[in-house]
Amino acid sequence: MNIQDLIRPTVKVLKPYSSARDEYQGNSDDMVFLDANENPFENGVNRYPDPQQRTIKSLLSEIKGIPQKNILLGNGSDEVLDLIYRAFCEPNQDNIITLPPTYGMYSVLANINAISIKSVQLGANFQPKVDEILKIADSNSKLLFLCSPNNPTGNSFESRSIERLIKEFKGIVVIDEAYIDFSNEESWASRLEDFPNLIVTQTLSKAYGMAGIRLGICYASKEIISVLNRIKPPYNVNELTQQKAISQLEKSELTKQQVSNILEERAVLVNNLEHVNYISKIYPSDANFVLVKVDDATKRYNQLIEKGIVIRNRTTQPGCENCLRFTIGTPEENKILIDTLNSI
Ligand SMILES: *Cc1c(COP(=O)(O)O)cnc(C)c1O
Repeated sequence: MNIQDLIRPTVKVLKPYSSARDEYQGNSDDMVFLDANENPFENGVNRYPDPQQRTIKSLLSEIKGIPQKNILLGNGSDEVLDLIYRAFCEPNQDNIITLPPTYGMYSVLANINAISIKSVQLGANFQPKVDEILKIADSNSKLLFLCSPNNPTGNSFESRSIERLIKEFKGIVVIDEAYIDFSNEESWASRLEDFPNLIVTQTLSKAYGMAGIRLGICYASKEIISVLNRIKPPYNVNELTQQKAISQLEKSELTKQQVSNILEERAVLVNNLEHVNYISKIYPSDANFVLVKVDDATKRYNQLIEKGIVIRNRTTQPGCENCLRFTIGTPEENKILIDTLNSI
């Protein structure tokens, strides 16, 4: 597969903006910086941030075992996903494939970018229907989104299915691993060398506890990363975000501890949910949330709101009739949820 053939013609010939900090890349602090029209008086944020976020990438590279040249960072996964659309999908011409029920941003971003959407609903146990997906794909199908573990269902897709899709789909396969740190599955980012058409996205918003700073991660071949770098806004990850990401990533033990707490709490919550009489099904979860089927999702949702608990009502999603999604909270919050579920 030739990745160059998938890139939009306008992007291929585009000359990227070259920022002051792109042109001078030294590390030494004792230089006099008079290149970027900044205010020279120090306040912690008076300088433009590193456009390549090299310190964060080197930390991530160590934690995840992926070379820095295979990493691109964005203002949340949402920006990373948007860059992928703009690099590969020609408006009013190309299409993408999604597998509902899944994360809503794939279709929102398609609509914003005037890209049409083909969808193949997940099959039994919320697994992808590989043959149908490959059959629906045409020569304008540029992106296929696989969310694994999937939101809102919580399950991981079977490796065999994912591998077949990467090998046989004739465009880019984007695997959204926002919840991978809660799962025992290995990240597909370790397979970038095997698959030139693979992009893996992750985020600091979930397991790493930094939804507020907006930092999304993209792992891909050097070739794809360089295409995305051409179109990304030069200073897309701000200085405060970079500083906070660095200080938190240095506390990797804390993150591990929190993830294992959340997983223990998930098991406790699931145990308790089994005794709630209007819950008819608890779907297996590889993530920090649980999807359940109830008698009347909208009624139960409203009852919980009245008691001051906000959860997600997923009843309008295909295959999720009368389903509610509970995020795992602190032990105290989970206890309040269970007590309330039992009282309504
Ligand atoms: C929460 C979530 C994200 C995270 O998006 P950010 O923009 O990085 O906060 C991405 N994908 C899925 C499936 C999610 O559920």
